[in-house]
Amino acid sequence: MLPVHTILFPTDFSENARQVFPLACSLGRDSGARVVVLHVAAPAKEHDPLLALQDRDEYYKEPRQKLHQYQAPDANVHVEHQLEIGEPTSEILRVAQQVKAGLIVMGTHGRTGLRRLLLGSVAEHVLRNATCPVLLVRHSVAGIAHTAASNDEIEQRSLKVGS
Ligand code: ATP
Ligand code: MN
Repeated sequence: MLPVHTILFPTDFSENARQVFPLACSLGRDSGARVVVLHVAAPAKEHDPLLALQDRDEYYKEPRQKLHQYQAPDANVHVEHQLEIGEPTSEILRVAQQVKAGLIVMGTHGRTGLRRLLLGSVAEHVLRNATCPVLLVRHSVAGIAHTAASNDEIEQRSLKVGS
């Protein structure tokens, strides 16, 4: 069993992140760790007319709703949600400390996904600076990972995808 009590799963709501979520949940189930789903929203621009019309809770309603679409697949997985406002990398690293994450599980790319780069900028910064292990999952592997019966199978299938 993984000696981990909290798994941090940061999401930018991209397709890649969505596909990685079942893997984070499987690891949470197997290790008995809670899964904290984190989204970092961009701060409102000072002169955004919407902000003048709405209070802050209303302004961040959409990301909050999207965040809560990540639900535990079954009762054996404990999922919590956290919304932060700011710069993604520093918020992910800060929340990792705050929730005492023993593992961060995330995609290698997000919405902008430049394929010629090995990793996205957020993924790379988190990998370089996190004080706990980071599991980065490539898009093509994420979709099959949660259907695989065992790590061996994941590995075999990953090799096939990579080849
Ligand atoms: P870039 O942002 O440099 O153009 P990218 O969007 O392809 O590249 P990243 O931003 O590094 O790649 O995304 C990789 C992972 O980082 C995502 O799958 C997600 O787990 C995490 N991430 C990125 N942005 C956020 C965010 N705003 N909130 C939470 N997690 C995020
Ligand atoms: Mn990004």
